[in-house]
Amino acid sequence: MRGLLAVHGGAGRLRKYLLESRRELEEGLRDALHAGMSALTTGSALDAVEAAVKVLESSGVFNAGKGAALNAYGQVELDAGVMFGRDLSFGAVAAQRYTWNAVTLARKVMELTDHILLVGPGADELAKRLGMEPHPGPTERARKLYEELLEAVKRGEHDLWSKNRELLLSMHPGDTVGAVALDSDGNLAAATSTGGISLKLPGRVGDTPLPGAGVYAENGVVAVSATGVGELIARYLAAFRVAELVRRGKPLGEALEQVVSGMTEFFGRRNTVGLIALDARGTYGEATNCEVFLRGFAKPGEPVRVGVLAEERVLQ
Ligand code: ASP
Repeated sequence: MRGLLAVHGGAGRLRKYLLESRRELEEGLRDALHAGMSALTTGSALDAVEAAVKVLESSGVFNAGKGAALNAYGQVELDAGVMFGRDLSFGAVAAQRYTWNAVTLARKVMELTDHILLVGPGADELAKRLGMEPHPGPTERARKLYEELLEAVKRGEHDLWSKNRELLLSMHPGDTVGAVALDSDGNLAAATSTGGISLKLPGRVGDTPLPGAGVYAENGVVAVSATGVGELIARYLAAFRVAELVRRGKPLGEALEQVVSGMTEFFGRRNTVGLIALDARGTYGEATNCEVFLRGFAKPGEPVRVGVLAEERVLQ
């Protein structure tokens, strides 16, 4: 067996953008699956998730890397995290502005520094020192979305700097990206990368670069990548909860459903989370409480499968 790979391109409400760009988004997922599977032929699960997420960051159509949503000041600020299940090694960046390729920078934090998470200027400095490619600046779509949302905020006389849960939830664009992989040596890995919530306060960090929240991998157990409203996913430690259930013997599909329905019940709302996962036996699982869940799955010798609407099944 060469290995298995799943990717996602975010979960959320059904929006016009998704219908208009469905083909590009599906194409992006397929490209990511091909890149990740090709990395698995010679590399590890860690190489595969990095390669897959890099393709999605580079596409400019997802809320990550080149296509990232913008913060309250109209700036790109990226979060990404990567975890290798063999030794629980972890690397992440948050509120990083220099390079578009946040997942690779997260891996560099893991492999080249003594730390697990670098934020803001520190993360930017590492990217510069490594000669990484600078972010080309916001895409037209990101800029347009930013302007529309800013208008709506002004009309509603909302104060972005004060607590407003409804406003936060309405600013969640979806389209975050992630991947999970299992290689032929039994290694599990996960990676997640995002521009975060539109109009987020500068310096805001979501679930994506936090181990056990937006990303988790542990050999013999599971690899999970999460997407949705980071403030809720992080408080619920969604990825780690899945791991704990699987560790105690719950089948992966049931564990994922239990965590998603637990979150829905606890916070009293839907459209907040989507999870993809692979367990140590190579079972793929997914669960969401969202209308839309962009995701795909690949196994050797079979055509890759992608889905956009939550009810479409891409299970093996
Ligand atoms: N979880 C991401 C965040 O809150 C956003 C997303 O997944 O769409 O930063």
